[in-house]
Amino acid sequence: MNNNMKKMIFADNAATTAIDEDALQKMMLWLKEEYGNASQPYSFGSKAKKAITESRQIIASCIGAKSEEIFFTSCGTESDNWVIKNFANKTIITTNIEHHAILNSCKAISSNTKIVYLQADKNGLVNSSDLDESLSLLSNKPGSVLVSIMTANNEIGTIQPIKELAEVAHAHGAIFHTDAVQAIGHIHMDVKEMNIDLLSASAHKFNGPKGIGFLFIKEGVSLLPLLDGGSQECGLRAGTENVASIVGMAVALKKNTDNIECNHKKTLALEQQLIFRLQSAGLDFIRNGHDYHIPGNISLSFRDRDGEMILHRMDLKGICISTGSACDSVNAQISHVIRAIGLDRQYAQGTIRISLGKNNTAEEVDTIATELIRLLQS
Ligand code: PLP
Repeated sequence: MNNNMKKMIFADNAATTAIDEDALQKMMLWLKEEYGNASQPYSFGSKAKKAITESRQIIASCIGAKSEEIFFTSCGTESDNWVIKNFANKTIITTNIEHHAILNSCKAISSNTKIVYLQADKNGLVNSSDLDESLSLLSNKPGSVLVSIMTANNEIGTIQPIKELAEVAHAHGAIFHTDAVQAIGHIHMDVKEMNIDLLSASAHKFNGPKGIGFLFIKEGVSLLPLLDGGSQECGLRAGTENVASIVGMAVALKKNTDNIECNHKKTLALEQQLIFRLQSAGLDFIRNGHDYHIPGNISLSFRDRDGEMILHRMDLKGICISTGSACDSVNAQISHVIRAIGLDRQYAQGTIRISLGKNNTAEEVDTIATELIRLLQS
């Protein structure tokens, strides 16, 4: 690197993460040398199959599932689509702050599916009594209703009371799905303890490779395949297995899961450091979300500012942050989540998301704070 070039600071870990070095190392073997097709019976193929089996066991053990309950997919979006599209013609209760992977899947089947959107409160929390009330109003038979509520929000980090929500869903005979893309590898998740029926995850959010994810399907819950083809994944998800990425995902998840407490401590300290600097500088801002949130996910709304402008000016300084998720044309620059929590427009327009991860340092956070303060005081 040219000495005059400043090192980039990556503070957009809710969008994606850097691949873990051990995961990358392990993947190289399966990309370069052991490239056999896991479905072929010769030993070159069965080695790949064994690697997949072992990875499945590791992943299952990280979330309290059985190996047979883990199904590999290409990403979180695919896992979400798989679940939602299985409930076409039935009833889905979801929320107004879900990721577009859920919201647009629901939209795609909305002509023949009853879809109810629960409203999150000003901190992005979904109330279990609202879910109870919605379920009480339905006359459908058990198993024909899906409740899909994200574990943690990607824009503001709020973590939902998943165990409680799953209990309410089950009390009404509904199936409970959670999009845990932002949560897996960052907070402890146990599908048995939390009574989850279906769970979506994506490797690139927990320092694994891009283009791989999984869906947990509880034993006894049946889904039709989203993709038809070969007999991979017990005939439920066709397509030649992405061996290297599956191995990389398992290594990354195990490492993150084993280090959750230590990563928490580190990212929470960085988070406090940043907020303290911004408050001490007297900037007029609101922090969005809830006290119970994904560590490092910091959504800030600055009064009478433009989030897009802040993002681009920070980019010029070599700092990657985000404004949240894609805007829509009707309400340019204000995302559906920020609108859902009812933020005052004077602040909403000035929303940015800084998402810190385990690789960020106190020195980086100091630079982010300094640049942000300089920009907002100019
Ligand atoms: N769900 C949530 C909550 C997300 O944050 C994302 C990605 O940002 C997705 C789903 C989609 O995951 P993927 O990028 O693996 O398709």
